[in-house]
Amino acid sequence: MADTLYMVIPCYNEEAVLRETASRMKEKYVSLIGRGFISPESRIVFVNDGSKDSTWQIIEELHCSEPAFFSGIDLARNSGHQNAVLAGLMTVKDICDMAITMDADLQDDINAIDAMIEKYNEGCQVVYGVRSARKTDTFFKRFTAESFYRFMKAMGADIVYNHADFRLMSRRVLQELDGFREVNLFLRGIVPLIGFKSANVYYERSERFAGESKYPLKKMLAFAVNGITSFSTKPLKLITGIGFLMSLISAAAIIWAFVVKILGHSELGWSSTMCSIWFIGGIQILALGIIGEYIGKIYAEVKQRPRYIVADFINDTEKRRKNDAEKDT
Ligand code: UDP
Ligand code: MG
Repeated sequence: MADTLYMVIPCYNEEAVLRETASRMKEKYVSLIGRGFISPESRIVFVNDGSKDSTWQIIEELHCSEPAFFSGIDLARNSGHQNAVLAGLMTVKDICDMAITMDADLQDDINAIDAMIEKYNEGCQVVYGVRSARKTDTFFKRFTAESFYRFMKAMGADIVYNHADFRLMSRRVLQELDGFREVNLFLRGIVPLIGFKSANVYYERSERFAGESKYPLKKMLAFAVNGITSFSTKPLKLITGIGFLMSLISAAAIIWAFVVKILGHSELGWSSTMCSIWFIGGIQILALGIIGEYIGKIYAEVKQRPRYIVADFINDTEKRRKNDAEKDT
């Protein structure tokens, strides 16, 4: 029999697109199951990330009307995109053979799923969905996103260029992912660290179907800083480098001051003093900030708080399993 695929779709205030996403996903599933690509046990799981609108009600409706297609996970509160994805993956990791994560807004091309499953059948444990074009993004979004990937690479975090969170992972990889316990979660950085055979599938990213982006610039910057400081200590090394350079420069300055004094023109400029005070002060504060960023991270990690709390999981396979277990005892 074909393998079981669970789609994990995080949703935060997505009432505007959810029904459309569900109907397109269902169509895809009907075709995939019909062609024997995936087993009829496969499900589409929507993870409600503490939405304030009717997202969860819609998910419940979808599940009640078509339990053979739709399942839902309700998180106790908004935990953020990455945690919502993780919550979904960890909830289904024992009942699926493979899982694909995808955004709810239909920006990722549903038709790339076929190619992903083909790669999986060829023995790949991870298949990355990679954007081949960013035509429909605004110039600003494209520019910031591309700078982000370049900067991440330069800072030593090994991420797949132009790949977001549209990816297939096998059950095996999901089990290993469970071992990464960090609170500051950055899946794009972690998945390549797990290893195993992987492949890329290219697709064109389209515009958000409806609703607004939940990633305003502020969140995007926070995401970038989190990504870098979670995966690389290069910024700390950079500080050491700058410190070293500054010491060299100041040594030269001291020699220069001495020479000037000896030659007798010791009326040194006020401006150069002011400039160096500001310059060094600025660098020191920046350095402290970067170090603080890492300390804050350590603080969050040491507490080891749960990354998400699942309030409810509605899934007919799970229900059946529970009933069977009760019968057995
Ligand atoms: N999302 C989430 N929790 C959040 C923010 C976003 O689960 O706190 C979901 C959102 O519903 C969507 C996906 O994460 O399915 C990506 O968000 P969005 O499309 O707003 O980001 P963008 O594509 O603009 O980067
Ligand atoms: Mg989007």
